[in-house]
Amino acid sequence: MSTDYLSTVDMPLRLSMGRIRSQMQELGYGLLAYCGYRSPQEQARLYRRSRSYAEIVAKMAWYEQHGLGLLAQYLERVGPQAGQIGAHVTQAGPGESWHQYRQAVDAVPVVDSRLCWDYPAVTAAESDAWVMYQTLIGQEGLTWGGTWATPDACHVQLSTTGGPLDRAQPSAAIAERQIAECAARYGWDD
Ligand SMILES: [Zn+2]
Repeated sequence: MSTDYLSTVDMPLRLSMGRIRSQMQELGYGLLAYCGYRSPQEQARLYRRSRSYAEIVAKMAWYEQHGLGLLAQYLERVGPQAGQIGAHVTQAGPGESWHQYRQAVDAVPVVDSRLCWDYPAVTAAESDAWVMYQTLIGQEGLTWGGTWATPDACHVQLSTTGGPLDRAQPSAAIAERQIAECAARYGWDD
């Protein structure tokens, strides 16, 4: 079974990533997308995996303080997750990643059937593939996670702002309503 992860994101991003993949293929590379839409439940599982219960309680309190009780509920309901405390796979809690809004994709270049997980790359061929991928991302006007303070080279998003919640805080009541609208619009009820 194969999943077309690009089909799970909004059309402008889907089309851009499709063009990038085609151009990579013309140059003899591949591009494998392995995550598009990620539900708030899955984001909550990733977030809880590496954090203590005290950290989760503090994060839930933070959501509540900002009128984002719905997002606190996602964090609570997935329950404890097995993992190594401190080994964070994500900085984003549920609702804090563009993946929840269908506006981000995780992908890696492919060279000679090998997935290029390493960035910076270890071989010249893989380095060339990353350079080409980064160039094409820029040409499409997308934002690449590889240049961030905490680099995330596999991550591409439509928005130039790091987090979707940053601009949604004029008041608690407005934020809560916006989140409810997001849940309906982006299909968070899985
Ligand atoms: Zn990502």
